[in-house]
Amino acid sequence: MPEPRNPLRGEGQPREPMSADQFINQKVTQNMRVHRPDGTIEEVPVSESSSCPDENGVYVDTGTHDVVTDASGTVVPSDPARITAFSHSGLVITTPGEAAVCTSGLHPVRRSRTIKLGYDGRRTAEGAICSVCDGRLGSIYIVIFIFCLAVILGIWKGVGLF
Ligand SMILES: [Zn+2]
Repeated sequence: MPEPRNPLRGEGQPREPMSADQFINQKVTQNMRVHRPDGTIEEVPVSESSSCPDENGVYVDTGTHDVVTDASGTVVPSDPARITAFSHSGLVITTPGEAAVCTSGLHPVRRSRTIKLGYDGRRTAEGAICSVCDGRLGSIYIVIFIFCLAVILGIWKGVGLF
């Protein structure tokens, strides 16, 4: 009696059923890939699970959940949808309230203007300033101070106080 034809099975495909351990003996790794504006790509591990037999042949399920923190110690959420932005120094921002935009004219051209308030920038009367511009502004003040000091000393010297 001829075997009934199965239209879903192609010619020459194996008929042996797959053994269960081929399905169970597996490892699943989840990564989050962060594309930075400067073109670099950072791969962040999020979780890993494996199901493999031990030396007694007993299947062991192992689940590892990675907790990743940024430079400020904030935990990077494993769900990328919860990340609203990364600041100019790579800090993770999860709520719009903790973000600001650097309004300083000294800001470097190819650097993100996003600030994480209280970490790498602060609010100012005009808007906000990032830590890089704050540092530049500080250097300019020091240069102006030295210049003024030199002018005053020069005047004193010209007048003949020394
Ligand atoms: Zn700035």
